Amino acid sequence: MTATLVAEDVRRSYGDTVALDGVSLSVDAGEVFALVGPNGAGKTTLVRALTGTTDATGTVSVFGSDPRRVDRERVGLLPQAFDPPKRLTARELLSYYAGLYDDSRDADAVLADVGLSDDADTWYENLSGGQRRRTCVGTALVNDPDLLFLDEPTTGIDPAGRRALWDLLESLADGGTTVFLTTHDMAEAHRLADRVGLLADGRLVAVDDPDALVREYGGESRLVVETDADPAALDLSYPAERSGDSLVVSDVPPEAIGDVVDALAAAGASYDALTWKEPDLEDVYLQLAGNPAGDYAGPDRERAALAPEGSR
Ligand code: ADP
Repeated sequence: MTATLVAEDVRRSYGDTVALDGVSLSVDAGEVFALVGPNGAGKTTLVRALTGTTDATGTVSVFGSDPRRVDRERVGLLPQAFDPPKRLTARELLSYYAGLYDDSRDADAVLADVGLSDDADTWYENLSGGQRRRTCVGTALVNDPDLLFLDEPTTGIDPAGRRALWDLLESLADGGTTVFLTTHDMAEAHRLADRVGLLADGRLVAVDDPDALVREYGGESRLVVETDADPAALDLSYPAERSGDSLVVSDVPPEAIGDVVDALAAAGASYDALTWKEPDLEDVYLQLAGNPAGDYAGPDRERAALAPEGSR
């Protein structure tokens, strides 16, 4: 495959704040790449560096060119903070943005794609938060881009609208559009992305397909028991530790859940709920990008991924 997007050792600081600390990545044509990471990790700065809208050092190439010189007809961009004129209807807005390109799609077709046909004549300021965001996504689609940057496209969109947008992005990717998106929604990243990159403190600490990330960093399946029982008082054959109001028992196969229940009963410990959990991308995120809320982050895992690149 040909790389649509290549970044090598991209760095950007604002005063003493290092927003990007040497990011290298490559995204192939037709690939969906999801960038995840905590607030302040550098995601928006990276999108800006990749789109040539901030001064960064290192090398960025889009379709083989400097991002500032690339044919803008081929690139769509939805910034995180995008605030279009409010006293225009959804259709007028899309028509306005379509008019900025030599070759653009019909505004009504784009409105249909983002599920806004019924609201085409509503002023932007009277649309709901989710409808506004979908209108904004539409503005990034009017030029039928080959490469689409979406910075948190589904923030504020309700679950049904989000799923509709996921379907749309999947069909765009199936049609060959390269998509680079940032998100805080791990289900979204897992569902849409061929590869997920996790950014922490301006560094890409892991990049892989979501299933591989879960296998490598997600930890074991586990049983979460809402109880105040002390693990030391239980006769368990599985590692257990307390996390907040819960007891977390690791490595328990589903068929052995009854053994844990029996151990609780034998110790006279009551419990309110019991949940068996498979590791998922959220566990990967908590494992690699820190866990400020103090929630359970997997048994005995080192925060090795936060170590500088090359030291692992
Ligand atoms: P994210 O999108 O992951 O939340 P950002 O790229 O917005 O992260 O920010 C990365 C870091 O750079 C943060 O510490 C942020 O405060 C800082 N930063 C971003 N943009 C600016 C700016 N224009 N001026 C000063 N600091 C900035």
